[in-house]
Amino acid sequence: MKAPVLSIVVPCYNEQEVFILCLNELSSRIEEMVNAGKIDSTSHIVFVDDGSKDSTWDLIESEASRHLIVRGVKLSRNKGHQTALMAGLSFCVESDITVSIDADLQDDTSVIEKMVDSYLSGKDIVYGVRNDRTSDSFFKKFTAETFYKVMTKLGVSQVENHADFRLLSKRALNALLQYKEQNLYIRGLIPLIGFPSDKVYYSRSERAAGESKYPIKKMLALALEGVTSFSVTPLRIVTALGFMISILSSLGVIYTLLQYFLGHTVSGWASVILAVLFIGGVQMLCLGVIGEYIGKIYMESKKRPNFFTETKTGLNENDGAQ
Ligand code: UDP
Ligand code: MG
Repeated sequence: MKAPVLSIVVPCYNEQEVFILCLNELSSRIEEMVNAGKIDSTSHIVFVDDGSKDSTWDLIESEASRHLIVRGVKLSRNKGHQTALMAGLSFCVESDITVSIDADLQDDTSVIEKMVDSYLSGKDIVYGVRNDRTSDSFFKKFTAETFYKVMTKLGVSQVENHADFRLLSKRALNALLQYKEQNLYIRGLIPLIGFPSDKVYYSRSERAAGESKYPIKKMLALALEGVTSFSVTPLRIVTALGFMISILSSLGVIYTLLQYFLGHTVSGWASVILAVLFIGGVQMLCLGVIGEYIGKIYMESKKRPNFFTETKTGLNENDGAQ
């Protein structure tokens, strides 16, 4: 049997400091696996430049002109990690396996071989799972744990402590690419695909160079994406809240009427204001949540293309979806 062709997809946003380190490490991993006869010698790395403002694309281009193993795609502007990853994957439909990994070498590249072994033993999806969070700050650890708890409560199934370091077989990738949604939360989509899957464990290290491209704002946006793209529970909570408040209000109406007919009415300024504020507040909250979902429907209904490729290197003209 011919060894499978592997593509490693690496989204890069302003990663000039770490790019060469990343390239060297990934290419030596590929070389090891080619020498061990596990993957085909045409296996390669696809770097996706997500609209970087530094020299990331120049580096990708110059390395691609010198090494066949390097391929690159430049998006026309910064679209975020998830879209960049999806864009990169869409150029790999001809490959037998893809592995997605961040550029910063936080994920242990030595487990790629374990992922490939698992694929060779018949698995379609192999999740890279962190076995500890010691390299994280207290804040990141706490927010991540809370996020997983909330997601589980909301009924969203996802592999805990797994980010976007994973292997996909050709058929799993083709299945993933059939999800045409704009609001991407890839790690939530993968378990929906099905197919035999496996996990490999590793410990995550510090970023090899450069700074995190996920500031708190982007982290929160991703978490919100995860919740609202996969769960309608927030809507149900709002409905339940609305229901409870309606019951409380009708009791209040009865009480008020009773007081009125008994002639006990006093100028209840405080209670009126409190009630108005409370109801006003709850309504605003409900409108906000509903608006969140309507916004999503609005965006999805446009069916806008998710990304455009500006240039390519080392890839065939016809490779890729767009
Ligand atoms: N990234 C991207 N577009 C963005 C932000 C990040 O392609 O808008 C890439 C980034 O280059 C890296 C990966 O996504 O390869 C994960 O980002 P980072 O390592 O900065 O996140 P952290 O590990 O700090 O959560
Ligand atoms: Mg990182």
